[in-house]
Formats: sequence, C-alpha cells, structure tokens
Amino acid sequence: MTLFLAKLIWFLGVAGWFTIRYRHQRRSRRTPKVRRFDRNREMLLLLISLSGMFFVPAIYILSGQPSFASYPFQPVLAWLGAATFALALWLFQRTHRDLGRNWSVTLEIREQHSLVTTGIYSRLRHPMYSAFWLWALAQALLLPNWVAGPAGLVGFGTLFFLRIGREERLMAETFGDEYRRYVERTHRIIPGVF
Ligand code: SAH
Repeated sequence: MTLFLAKLIWFLGVAGWFTIRYRHQRRSRRTPKVRRFDRNREMLLLLISLSGMFFVPAIYILSGQPSFASYPFQPVLAWLGAATFALALWLFQRTHRDLGRNWSVTLEIREQHSLVTTGIYSRLRHPMYSAFWLWALAQALLLPNWVAGPAGLVGFGTLFFLRIGREERLMAETFGDEYRRYVERTHRIIPGVF
C-alpha cells in the first residue's frame, strides 16, 4: 500500500457511493412529498457534512494542502481504512434497498410513507448513518493528514448530532405508537450498544 493507492481507494469509495445513490436520487425526485421538516437547517447541515466528507479531502488529495497537518503514511492504517470503506458501501446499499421510496436526503415525509422495520432496520434505526460513520472513519484511516482525515468525522458528526433527535421526533409524530414500540426494541447506530 502506498499513499497514492490510499488516495485512489478514497476516490473509488466516493465513486462507489455515488453509483449506489444515483438511481435512488432519481427515483426520490419522482416520489411526491407531503411534508418537509426544517428545510433550510437541513440544507446547511448537508453542506457542512459534504465539506468534511468530500471538499476538504478532495482538496488534500489534489493539492496536498494543508501540508502542515500531514504526518507519515502508515500502510496498516490505510488497509484498515480500505476494509472499513468496503463495509460502509455494503451497508449503504443495503440500507437504500430496505428504505426504498421512503428515503430522502433531508428530513421529509413522502406520500404513502411507510415505517420500515425489516431487513437491516429490524436491528438499527439509523443504519444509513452507521454507514456514513464508517465512511468517515475510513477517510481518517486512509488520509495521513490531521485536517483532511478527521474532517469527515467532524462534518458528518455535526449533521448526525444536530439531526438525529429531530428525525426521531418527526418519525414519532408521523407513526405514533408504532414508532415508539420500534424505538424500544432497536438501537440507533451500533447493534446492541447505542
Ligand atoms: N436515519 C435513517 C434514514 C436516513 S434517510 C438511517 O440512517 O438509515 C432520512 C429519511 O428517512 C427521513 O426523511 C425519514 O423520513 C426517513 N426514515 C428514517 N427512518 C425511517 C424508517 N424506519 N422507515 C421509513 N422512513 C424512515
């Protein structure tokens, strides 16, 4: 493993993510919505997350900046990062498959929105966010730079912690006791733990 390969793996991971998301994004545009929740705030959170998971690492990969924050490349960490990215992508496509038309990039309720509690959602309430945490972790392991590496954890972490409570409130308002019972038997992002 070389630094060039680690950067290439990050890029391929992002391309894989884009490929998985593309057709869901297209279908999502055609599925009518009945409710949008905190639209402006959600857009700002998306921008913060995108900066940390895409723009900052892309700038580092293309220009080496910010160079003061770079540290020596460790092949073992990069291999771990590659494996973590693979796991993230696997989980990501499973969550998209299970959520189907109920998925939105922000907080929205669709016409004929149904509460998904099967597949990967039978154990976790937010497996797609678990996949993003894994991606952010993979980025930190792959890129030997104290700014570009952890930027994903900071960026996605901001979105996650400022969204999760409101998403669960929206779900509880929409699905009532069905959601409250679901909350009782599942965890948020780590099976059996959190
Ligand atoms: N937090 C989930 C989904 C992320 S997509 C995860 O991490 O896997 C965000 C959208 O999914 C929100 O607009 C919300 O309306 C919808 N959503 C979240 N959980 C859902 C569920 N269990 N069933 C159906 N839709 C859900």
